[in-house]
Amino acid sequence: MTLKYVVGLRCTICGAEYGVDEVDYVCPHHGDEGILDVLYDYEAIRRDFPLEQLLASEERSIWRYLPLLPVDPDVARRLAEGTVLGSVGWTPLYPAPRLAERLGLNHLWVKDDSRQPTASFKDRASAIAVVKTRERGAAVVTTASTGNAAAALAGLCAAVGQPNVIFVPKTAPQAKVAQLLAYGATVLLVDGTYDQAFDLCLEAAREFGWYNRNTAYNPYMSEGKKTAAYEICEQLGVAVGADGRPPLQAPDVILVPVGDGCIIGGIHKGLRDLMALGWIDRMPRIIGVQAEGSSPLVDAWERGLEGWEMEPVEAHSVADSIVAGLPRDRIKALRAVRETGGVFLRVTDEEILAAIPALAQGVGVFAEPAAAAAYAGLVRAVEQGIVGNDDRVVVLATGSGLKDVASVMKAVGQARVVAPDLTDVKRLVEEGRVP
Ligand SMILES: *Cc1c(COP(=O)(O)O)cnc(C)c1O
Ligand SMILES: [Zn+2]
Repeated sequence: MTLKYVVGLRCTICGAEYGVDEVDYVCPHHGDEGILDVLYDYEAIRRDFPLEQLLASEERSIWRYLPLLPVDPDVARRLAEGTVLGSVGWTPLYPAPRLAERLGLNHLWVKDDSRQPTASFKDRASAIAVVKTRERGAAVVTTASTGNAAAALAGLCAAVGQPNVIFVPKTAPQAKVAQLLAYGATVLLVDGTYDQAFDLCLEAAREFGWYNRNTAYNPYMSEGKKTAAYEICEQLGVAVGADGRPPLQAPDVILVPVGDGCIIGGIHKGLRDLMALGWIDRMPRIIGVQAEGSSPLVDAWERGLEGWEMEPVEAHSVADSIVAGLPRDRIKALRAVRETGGVFLRVTDEEILAAIPALAQGVGVFAEPAAAAAYAGLVRAVEQGIVGNDDRVVVLATGSGLKDVASVMKAVGQARVVAPDLTDVKRLVEEGRVP
């Protein structure tokens, strides 16, 4: 199988390079840790796919970037045509003037990935996994996950009738298991931890020849996630480009909630692609936000550790999607922050919960706790002077509040009960408690 613009895969630890047909997942010298970067021929892309052609595209999904994705374009087009898979990506970038004013900022946008087909950012990666599965002719695709990655894979598989097997720890939240079962995934509840589920999934995939979607193992997942960075720069270009500046615009700062570190690594990759193509002229600072109870990357960043020097820690937070004791994509995550002059920040569970109604009321985006963490991080960053008034700031909202209603209820209090006639309502209006 040839991918026209992909020239190889490079190990993030030793820098060894491989052809796409030589290695499927990780660097053979570094086992499961040897995560690979996907390398492109940017010269050829620029020649065959000029920026004007992209800007004129009417494809409103990640598939508008096909020459920059590591998939067979014909397989991708065939699967995406008229299916849910075809509507992954191109989520709105909303200006948030009221939130900006509250924080003393002049330019703030929220990228709303709660609007993805399965209601989280993970659809960007799973979409690539489904196409690669078909490209390889694998009968089954598999992943281990406790939540959104599994839902994304199960949902997009359902869209195209692709059998899939999902390994989740037995302790996984009911709501998330329900979404998997509804999509018809074969759900295997592992009597063990997430790490054991992950290892079992790798073993099963090898044994039975299943295609493996696992985060920070499959090198192509970051490639799906990078599309959010492309979209931000295109959408921002339309928003502010009228004054003769280039048609694509990088913001000054992007805030990303971080668990395993795959999203932040993907955002960085997308921006590096755009720099290499000459489609943006500077790299934004990337700010990674972690929950205080699950912040090993903040520790490593503060102590100047490399990804391979990190040790697993106990991790917990209300924001379940960003709980990771040893983030699997830690090398790419640290690199994203270090190479862009960004920072890693911690936020408390209270700050995360408070950010849910703040985002919902301030811009109309209903986020799950992990997604709201990015906004909580912005509040911190402004307080600490890390983000300034004139910075153009983008906050990534990565998942829907409907994924975890119980946590939202902790943040919003109770609704009022009234009699089924006008008496109570009249009283409330008189007391000024109804707008
Ligand atoms: C997975 C996820 C994250 C974190 O992404 P990582 O790649 O694990 O860092 C953040 N928010 C939501 C909603 C997620 O599902
Ligand atoms: Zn290596």
